[in-house]
Amino acid sequence: RNPAGPLLPVVGHDTLVPLVDGRQVPYANLDVAASAPALKAVADRVVEVLPLYASVHRGAGYLSQVSTALYEAARRTIGDFVGAREDDLTIVTRNTTDSLNLLAGCVPTGADGEPGRVLVLDVEHHANLLPWQRDTNATVLTGAATVAATIAELQEELADAVAAGAPYALLAVTGASNVTGESLPLDEIVAVAHAAGARIALDGAQLVPHRRFSLAESGVDYVAFSGHKTYAPFGAGALVGRADWLDTGTPYLAGGGAVRRVRTTETVWQTGPARHEAGSPNVIGAVALAAACEALAALDPEEVRAHEGSLRRRLVEGLESIDRVQVARVWEDAADPVGVVTFTVAGYDPGLVAAYLSAEHGIGVRDGRFCAHPLLGRLGFDAGAVRASVGVGTSGEEVVRLVEAVQALVADGPGAAYDVVDGLWVV
Ligand code: PMP
Repeated sequence: RNPAGPLLPVVGHDTLVPLVDGRQVPYANLDVAASAPALKAVADRVVEVLPLYASVHRGAGYLSQVSTALYEAARRTIGDFVGAREDDLTIVTRNTTDSLNLLAGCVPTGADGEPGRVLVLDVEHHANLLPWQRDTNATVLTGAATVAATIAELQEELADAVAAGAPYALLAVTGASNVTGESLPLDEIVAVAHAAGARIALDGAQLVPHRRFSLAESGVDYVAFSGHKTYAPFGAGALVGRADWLDTGTPYLAGGGAVRRVRTTETVWQTGPARHEAGSPNVIGAVALAAACEALAALDPEEVRAHEGSLRRRLVEGLESIDRVQVARVWEDAADPVGVVTFTVAGYDPGLVAAYLSAEHGIGVRDGRFCAHPLLGRLGFDAGAVRASVGVGTSGEEVVRLVEAVQALVADGPGAAYDVVDGLWVV
């Protein structure tokens, strides 16, 4: 009944969860898209380097030299993982949100002296929407005309918008949706942007941990991603891409290390990653992220795609076979989605479904609006939804557990611990 075990070992897999009926069961972590459990290889690397941790870049002592070398080697590994070109910069940030905010401060002003024009879609995570909305001259392409339509139509809309709104400085798009796992056809989107003289930034938070991605091969100009979604601990992420904007943009953090010379009246900022990395850097976080990058790069990408794809198919087919369950989709023709599945169960508040899955079955999922309010509204899920997500550490058994748990919920109800209010089961 359950063939596929995990592709790579992760830590925390054997955590026991106390259920309401007093039993204990192994935790089924189906919330990988929020934060993925650390790979065993990453945990081992952290233990190995922790004793070597000392001040970076500024200390002359032996361990400071070792730490500096570890940090700079991690930077190269992280850049290589996303196919950085020779002249690209790899800036170590805290996460995708940090990376995109940083980039928003680097979009050059237009010829009219106004903030640079940026085009975004309404399917984005807030991290790839709000920085542009707040800090640049952003146009949000609402795709209102493309509800439940196709990517092919969206491409036409995008091309029209880019042509009509020229000159755009930047097109900022998701690599894979954190709500549906769907992706846009990257080559075509890059071509649309570049044909209009715009650069392209990719929110790689959900793509990079699950698909082989290369800046050099795709022609994408910038990619942002998060360590904690890439099987490393919290606290380190990256922005990788073209140096010119990053070398001249607003320094993301003002402080030590980001400057060449400071007088009381005048400051000369650094170029390179240091310009944006003021303060003591997260050496262990960067080393952990690099270890995750190395472990993922060593896998056969087709094997990852097959493993996660088969788990996703089992989830979608299992859930869709249940009366009352609706699985979210944005585009009819989206190909090769990553392992994220968002659904609703008619008659059950999403918060209740998530609480029930945890308390009665030891399954971790996420509920809410997934920091993508415009998209959830467009999908008709204003009251939120439930999201299950898988990765290299997920087994087929965990996916089957989720489907059976939702079947049990619909067949038997959630039990005495929950109430019905206005015909809806709620927590
Ligand atoms: N973009 C996408 C597509 C995401 O899924 C997330 C995290 N849910 C983010 C951006 C933000 O990532 P972080 O919280 O690590 O900054």
